[in-house]
Formats: sequence, structure tokens, C-alpha cells
Amino acid sequence: MIDKDKIKKAVNMLLEAIGEDVSREGLKDTPDRVARMYEEIFAGYEDNAAERLSRKFDAEGSGADSGIVIEKDISFYSMCEHHMLPFFGKVHIAYIPNKKIVGLSKLARTVEVFARRLQVQERFSSEIADAVEKELDAKGVMVIACAEHTCMTMRGVKKPGTQTVTVCSRGLFETDADLRRQVLDLIRT
Ligand SMILES: [Zn+2]
Repeated sequence: MIDKDKIKKAVNMLLEAIGEDVSREGLKDTPDRVARMYEEIFAGYEDNAAERLSRKFDAEGSGADSGIVIEKDISFYSMCEHHMLPFFGKVHIAYIPNKKIVGLSKLARTVEVFARRLQVQERFSSEIADAVEKELDAKGVMVIACAEHTCMTMRGVKKPGTQTVTVCSRGLFETDADLRRQVLDLIRT
């Protein structure tokens, strides 16, 4: 459980530490607001991908028992664990079903489970890939994440618009370059 009182105290200390007057009108409710916001943006710690992907359907007869299923352009917001600043962008998930498929909204829910935590983009994409591979017993999974990291664009090297792309392949996508290329082509269209 997220300890909101502790967050409030910590934000109060942060405000003091940067030289702010914590008693001024505009900051009066800030520690409380941040605590409630953290409860929302870090809700992933209390959430579980296995549960999100638990309702499965038979792929046989659905037309999805062969070939690739792609859910693309799933937007996400996460927080980098090095600076506690947002990174955000899009995730594309491709998988090759093995008897089971899942409702497409569940893939987006799975992205949320891992986005709403402190993250690095590489782990974020591999955790999504692992969850889909395991829960659906998929023959192959590919997760591509493209994101802007505000710790790179608003501070440090300050390069606005820089995109970080991570690609994570499991199963058949690991061994078959043609399959990977198909996914990249489909994502571009
Ligand atoms: Zn960072």
C-alpha cells in the first residue's frame, strides 16, 4: 500500500529543501495533492498482469489460430526510476497465439500495470513481453516501445523530441528475422 502520509511529509521536506515557503497559499495543499497523484501514477505496484490477462478465448475458429496479432499505438505514461521524471510514448505489442487469445483491451491494461511504477524503458518492455508470453503461452511475442524521456529533454542534454526505442522479442520472434520484419512493417502502416 502506498503510504500517503509519508509522501506528504517527504514533499513538505522537498519544498523546504529547495527554499520554498511551505505556508504560502499556492503550496498549502501541494503535499496532499502529490500524495494523491502518486497513489494514481504508482498504482501498478498493487496491480497484476496475470489477473489482467486471465480471461482468454479459444483461438481456434476465430481466425487467429495462425498469424500475428498486433495491438499498436498503446499510449503510456511512466516514471523513470533514475530521476522520478515522466517518460511517455507508445507501445506496440505483437504476439503469435498458441490456442489462446485475449481481449485487446487487456493488452492495454497490461501496459498500465507496468507503466504505473518506477521504471526503465528496457525493463518495462521486457516485463510486458514476459507477461504476454507466460499468461497466453504465446508462440512468440514482440514488444516495441518508443518514448520521450523528460529527464533527457527538460534537463541534462536537453534534446527535445529525442525518442528512445526498445524492442523485445520472445519465442519465434527471437529466431525468425522475417517475422520481426513483418511486425515492423505492420506497425509502420
Ligand atoms: Zn531518467
